[in-house]
Amino acid sequence: MVSQRVGNINESATVSMSNRAAELKAAGKKIYSFGIGEPDFTTPKEIIDYAYSQALEGKTHYTPSAGIIELRQKIAEKMKKKNGVEAASSNVLVTPTKFSLNLALYSIIDPGDEVLLPAPYYVSYPDIITLNEGKTVYFDTDKDYEFDFDRMRRLVSPKTKVFMFNNPVNPTGKVYSEKTLRELSDFILENNLYLLSDEIYEDLVYKGKMFSPASIPEMRDHTVTLSGFSKSYAMTGWRIGYMVGPEDIIKAANKVQQQTLTCAPSISQYAALKALDDEQSIAVMKKEFEKRRNLTVSLLKEIDGLTLYEPEGAFYAFPGYEYNIPDSKIAMDLLDKENVIVTPGTPFGSEKHFRISYATSEDVISAGISGISKYFSGLGKK
Ligand code: PMP
Repeated sequence: MVSQRVGNINESATVSMSNRAAELKAAGKKIYSFGIGEPDFTTPKEIIDYAYSQALEGKTHYTPSAGIIELRQKIAEKMKKKNGVEAASSNVLVTPTKFSLNLALYSIIDPGDEVLLPAPYYVSYPDIITLNEGKTVYFDTDKDYEFDFDRMRRLVSPKTKVFMFNNPVNPTGKVYSEKTLRELSDFILENNLYLLSDEIYEDLVYKGKMFSPASIPEMRDHTVTLSGFSKSYAMTGWRIGYMVGPEDIIKAANKVQQQTLTCAPSISQYAALKALDDEQSIAVMKKEFEKRRNLTVSLLKEIDGLTLYEPEGAFYAFPGYEYNIPDSKIAMDLLDKENVIVTPGTPFGSEKHFRISYATSEDVISAGISGISKYFSGLGKK
C-alpha cells in the first residue's frame, strides 16, 4: 500500500491531458492541443552544440551538489543585472525548477505550517505543499487577479510561514505591477513570512514590466526566488533551473539535494551556462509568443459567452464562462466534439474557466479556437 502522504496528492492535471492527446494522436486523430505548457521550439542550436562539446570533453560526471561554480556565479550576476537582486554564488542552488519548489518548502516549513496560496495558482503548488506536510490556506484574488491585503491579513495565523505565487502567472497570464509587489512585500515583512516567488516566465512579458520582490533590500532575507531555463530558452527536457535565497535556506536545500538528487544533470548545467549568454534567442522566441498571444486574444474576444482577462505575460490565456457546466465537462466536450485540448480551471483553483497554452503554431491557434467558438455557439446565448 502506498503512503498516506503520496495517497493524498493528485496526478498533474496538465500531464494527464497531454497523455490523452498522445493517445488520440496515436489513434490517427488530428488534435489541436492547447494542453501542456511548453515552448514548441527546439532548444537554440548553439546551446545544444556547447553542451555536446562539453560532454565530449568529459563533463559527464557528478558536479558539486549546489551546481558548478561558474554557473552559480553567472546566475548571481544575472540576478543582479536583470532582476536587481543582490546575490553571491552562495545564495544560488542549481536544480530543476519544479524540484526547487519542493526543496524550498522542505527547507522552510515544518509539518502543519501554513502556506498562503492565492487562486488561481500553478496546478502543482497544493500537492507540493501537501507532500511537504504543510497546510494550504487558499484565497481568491479579484476579477483582475489583484490581492485583497485586508483579507490576507485576516488569514495570517501563528502557523503561517510562506506566501507562494508565480509571476507572470500560470494560468492567467497576469503580470503584477511593481506597486502591487511592493505592497505584497510590506505584507510579508509585517508578518515575518517567506515569499516563494516563482519567476520562471520572467522573460515572457509583453505588457507591463517584470519586477522581482527580492530586489527590495529588506526582502532579500525573506524571499526565495525560483527561475529556470525551460520557458525562456525552450529547455524543458534538460530539467534545469535554480533557486536564489538567503544562505541558510540555500544551505538547507543543498543538504536535501545531496541526499536526494545529488546534483542537477552536469551536461544541462553547461547548457545553462551557455544559455545565460544568449539573450538573442530569448528575444526571437518572445516575439513569436507575442504574435501568438495577440492572435489568441483577438480570436477569443470574438466568442460570445466567454470572458477574458487579457494576458500580459507567460504563454497562457484563461477564459471564463457563465454556462452551468463544470469545466471538466467543457474540456472533455471540446476534446470529443472539436478535437481541441484545453486544461480545466478547477485544478488551478478557478471554476468555470479553462486554460489555453498558446505555445503552438498560429495555424493550430486559428483552427483550435475556431473549434472552441463552434462549441460555445452551439450552447446558445447565455
Ligand atoms: N513553475 C511554474 C509556474 C510552471 O509553469 C512550471 C512548468 N510548467 C514550473 C514551475 C516547472 O518548471 P520546470 O519544468 O522547468 O521544472
